[in-house]
Amino acid sequence: MSEAAPGRADGPAGIVVDDVTMRFDGPEATAALQELSFDIADGEFVAVVGPSGCGKSTLLRIIAGLQPPTSGSVTVRGKTPSQARSDVEFGFVFQNPVLFPWLQVLNNVLLPDRILGKRNPLRDHDAETRARKLLRDVGLEGFEDHYPEQISGGMQQRVALARALSYGPSTLLMDEPFGALDEFTRDNLNLQLLDVWRQTGSTIVFVTHSLAEAIFLSDRVVVLSPRPGHVLRIADVPFTRPRELAIRYQPDFAALNGELRELLQADAHPDADQAVPSP
Ligand code: ADP
Repeated sequence: MSEAAPGRADGPAGIVVDDVTMRFDGPEATAALQELSFDIADGEFVAVVGPSGCGKSTLLRIIAGLQPPTSGSVTVRGKTPSQARSDVEFGFVFQNPVLFPWLQVLNNVLLPDRILGKRNPLRDHDAETRARKLLRDVGLEGFEDHYPEQISGGMQQRVALARALSYGPSTLLMDEPFGALDEFTRDNLNLQLLDVWRQTGSTIVFVTHSLAEAIFLSDRVVVLSPRPGHVLRIADVPFTRPRELAIRYQPDFAALNGELRELLQADAHPDADQAVPSP
């Protein structure tokens, strides 16, 4: 692992995905994931890439305890996913920031604290002081009193990130969080995310369509095949941290990107739902 993230020392290590298979019953029975096994260390940044429909979101839902697998198991710091969820181990960031339009930015970030009440693991801390610091960390100082409609999509996604971190989750589950943003905003948010990750030491599981984004951000990239998703390769990302955007133009970055892309293309099905992720 890189030198960046200190990780959290309390509790057993990491996330263990052990032989997970997921089938959805129904008129069109779908095999979404097949015999997936890999470990994620505490404090590690792991990206998951694969063609659309290969089961990436399903995998996140299984890790989060929102969906039991058909067979196999997941443990999160030694707990079942649903136990980990009820212990507030997870922060979620989705493609759509899901902010409450009638709440100002600061109150959107404070919302989990109010909902969780006594279950908030950070309840002894001053929630507002922490929320204001997180907003500073994601570059939103001065926007605390704005309403979501008064700020850009990228800023809204920063609010969602600050909110997900507000109760100090050990693990951030991110499902294509920057997929709807323009390239420059996305670049900025990638840098900001790495900064925040360095400070919090959380474990991050980051689903993306973009191989370049996956390689730029993560310690390891889990490459999934078309549906039913199985692990094609788990690639170590060798670049030192802190990383600058310019590493994307280095030959070894391009080589790794090309290698993973070829792997995906070699395994691609000819049907339209299985588009290979973007570079
Ligand atoms: P990805 O995130 O990689 O695009 P998903 O995890 O969303 O893929 O979906 C994987 C496959 O499982 C898809 O074929 C999808 O249609 C199917 N699927 C996902 N959720 C359900 C569900 N609740 N019921 C039936 N099929 C589902």
